[in-house]
Amino acid sequence: LEDINKTYYNGSPLHVLKGIDLDIHKGDFVSIMGASGSGKSTLLNILGILDNYDTGVYRLNDVLISNLSEKRAAEYRNRMIGFVFQSFNLINFKNAMENVALPLYYQKISRKKRNIMAMEYLDMLGLKEWAHHMPNEMSGGQKQRVAIARALIANPQIILADEPTGALDSKTSEEVMSILKDVNKKGMTMIIVTHEKAVGEKTDRTIHLKDGIIESITQN
Ligand code: ATP
Ligand code: MG
Repeated sequence: LEDINKTYYNGSPLHVLKGIDLDIHKGDFVSIMGASGSGKSTLLNILGILDNYDTGVYRLNDVLISNLSEKRAAEYRNRMIGFVFQSFNLINFKNAMENVALPLYYQKISRKKRNIMAMEYLDMLGLKEWAHHMPNEMSGGQKQRVAIARALIANPQIILADEPTGALDSKTSEEVMSILKDVNKKGMTMIIVTHEKAVGEKTDRTIHLKDGIIESITQN
């Protein structure tokens, strides 16, 4: 990112990101920390090509994001990026296997192959026995592992996670962080927004945001 600026214009204009310069490299494990309202989710949404910025340059693997049409941007996002959220965002009327298989549906992969792959990913995350359970039958940690499996199944280059441990107790939070660390060790770039110091410290580098500005970057 080079000199990224973002203002929200609904209501009185709110200048949320003020000249963000940031280099993140393949295989990095980075956390973004800062007070509520400092712009963490806004920054993550821009990195995830979910939201637009007003000025500045965002290059992802040498592709200039602002030049992409909406359709190309969506295709690029689906190919490159997996998302994990605080509230898991699972589909409540689909079981664990179907939730994990969902990104493959959009890639027009056959149901049989989707389900086989979903089972492999659930197995990898220790959830094979839970494949046919519905989200409301699972604990927070289990639901987040399903969400991580779903983020991984399309083999993205980057995982973006907004408060992935925010709804979990500290022990479960540690388990989820150790899963994310393992995934990162296999070479996947990982960017995590968190409020929790203990979570931030598990990453290699922490970006401290304050009022839309990068205040400092620390190595952990
Ligand atoms: P939190 O830790 O509470 O999640 P955050 O650092 O993620 O906070 P953002 O969600 O990026 O903060 O929001 C930054 C500022 O922009 C806040 O003041 C917020 O109210 C505002 N904001 C966020 N999204 C929008 C939107 N869609 N429209 C208008 N203002 C918004
Ligand atoms: Mg946020």
